[in-house]
Amino acid sequence: MNLVFLGPLGAGKGTQAQLLQEREGIPQISTGDMLRRAMGEGTELGRKARVDVNRGELVPDDVMIGLIGERLREPDTRRGFILDGYPRTLGQAQALDRVLQALERSLDAVVYFQVSDKTIIHRLGGRRVCRKAAHIFHVEFHPPRIPGRCDFDGSGLFQREDDKEETVRHRLEVYHRQTEPLVEFYRSRGILETINAEAEIEDVYAALREMLRARVESR
Ligand code: AMP
Repeated sequence: MNLVFLGPLGAGKGTQAQLLQEREGIPQISTGDMLRRAMGEGTELGRKARVDVNRGELVPDDVMIGLIGERLREPDTRRGFILDGYPRTLGQAQALDRVLQALERSLDAVVYFQVSDKTIIHRLGGRRVCRKAAHIFHVEFHPPRIPGRCDFDGSGLFQREDDKEETVRHRLEVYHRQTEPLVEFYRSRGILETINAEAEIEDVYAALREMLRARVESR
């Protein structure tokens, strides 16, 4: 399946995409992870993105459109993909249409993770990410077995620079202004599916799985 996960920061898009990747083998494409990796490696992309990412601003569309165009041309995406954190603007959504058209593919569904700002602020303060492969944990809701260590690869967990409270508030404003309009954009095409993302991780996963099953059956 070709999927877009849409919704605010801290809605659980990355957590659910990782579960779907692990259990169903659909590759997760997280533009945020790609940018953080590039920043860590100090590549040209990383240098271009660093200031915007750390301030909670969006990285310019032309950079993101180039990045996703290249990624979708890699062979592992032929059996499907989950776009996690892309598109975030109307320009990015239109560019995605063009890339998919050129590849003779289309989106099966856009999953909208609906969650309140209050929940987001509460969640992001406790989010921790592993250094090696960006596995996601939460100090309270999804703690690792050994504090500060990733369950999967044992690497250290850290708090993202942009998960500090002030930056989170700014990222939320950016989300409401620039990304939320995409909900209506995809709803009007009849491919939007809404998930209650306030629920617990496994309950959200069960709802997601059921929704995908129904989509496959109606094809
Ligand atoms: P995320 O991990 O999805 O929360 O992304 C972290 C940060 O990376 C965002 O706050 C943006 O600065 C940047 N970023 C990730 N994806 C995009 C995108 N599609 N467009 C612009 N900036 C992005």
